[in-house]
Amino acid sequence: MREDTRAVHGDKGYDKYTGAISYPLYMSATFAHPEVGKSTGYDYSRLQNPTREEVEETIKYLEHGCAGLAYSSGMAAITAIFAVLPARSHILLSEDLYGGTPRLANEYFADHLEIEYVDTTDLELVKSKIKDNTKALFIETPSNPMMLVSDIAALADLIHQNQGYLIVDNTFLTPILQKPLDLGADVVVHSGTKYLCGHNDVIAGFIVVGDRQELIEALKQHYKSTGAILSPFDSWLMIRSMKTLSIRVKKQQENAEKLVDFLKNHKNVTKVYYVGMEDHPGYDLNKKQAAGAGAMISFKVRDAKKAKDVLKKIKLIYFAESLGGVESLMTYPLLQTHAEAPKELTQKVGIDDTLLRMSVGIEDLEDLIQDLQQALDD
Ligand SMILES: *Cc1c(COP(=O)(O)O)cnc(C)c1O
Repeated sequence: MREDTRAVHGDKGYDKYTGAISYPLYMSATFAHPEVGKSTGYDYSRLQNPTREEVEETIKYLEHGCAGLAYSSGMAAITAIFAVLPARSHILLSEDLYGGTPRLANEYFADHLEIEYVDTTDLELVKSKIKDNTKALFIETPSNPMMLVSDIAALADLIHQNQGYLIVDNTFLTPILQKPLDLGADVVVHSGTKYLCGHNDVIAGFIVVGDRQELIEALKQHYKSTGAILSPFDSWLMIRSMKTLSIRVKKQQENAEKLVDFLKNHKNVTKVYYVGMEDHPGYDLNKKQAAGAGAMISFKVRDAKKAKDVLKKIKLIYFAESLGGVESLMTYPLLQTHAEAPKELTQKVGIDDTLLRMSVGIEDLEDLIQDLQQALDD
């Protein structure tokens, strides 16, 4: 079954007992046993829940993985993957990442892991940083918010020489546009809050693992032990959301491509960062490893005053954190998503007070252009 169909129909899909087309919401904390030593397969919802399993199996299928786990947030998923890495292993992270990831690594994992940041677009540099105990590479591609593209297949080869894992945060492109596991990555993480949910109404996270059984076992044990599970109701909302994932992402991307043309030609916009632009340094690589450039655009305006002005003037587009939903949002990375990221990292990658990031929604293109126009004009 092709992905678009699987996203619509889910794993088990409709309920065989009643014929209900919508997969049932099993709002039960615990499950009755027929007798000692027997189980229906469901014991307690921290361990297994049928509704959660349905969404886990669906995302696993879409990412071409061997196991899927649904978490209460993207950060809970990233916490889990950091926690199960062998103690004192060295981990290399991309310099440009969602701000919460370096905050989590630096504040809570500095005793457990040896953490180092590197420009993962530079393969020679990554190679020179790999040591005997380097057990993981953690990347986003395209990255947040500077849209840097890293070579998934080449990085996977590098870390596999050390029996390590390549972990890809695939939140921006989703499995509709990029399948890191097919390219050699070992783990995909998602903030399900973003495109997978798409409606700005659920906080969720996912991990999908490729054929790495030891890691799957470790993650399942951690999951059961720590309990950062996605609730049955949120799982049910995610099942519903993912039915439209493919059409949403495609429409958002179509709008984004047109908005990039508009932004490039506006006199108060000084630079546009979008991997679908032919003059973007990651254009060819992204084209090779992904089926599209997605719907995230970063751009710089004349000065900080203009950036603040735009955020005040936009009406249809909301000035809000987050991304991936059907509603277009704009953020100010320096003071929002990256407010607590290490300053030397933000400065190095170019996150400054003129940078704005837009998550393009599914609204009518002309309305979006009009709103941007009135906000950007002097
Ligand atoms: C939002 C986001 C996260 C964190 O996910 P939450 O669901 O907010 O916990 C991680 N990575 C990326 C790329 C994100 O955009």
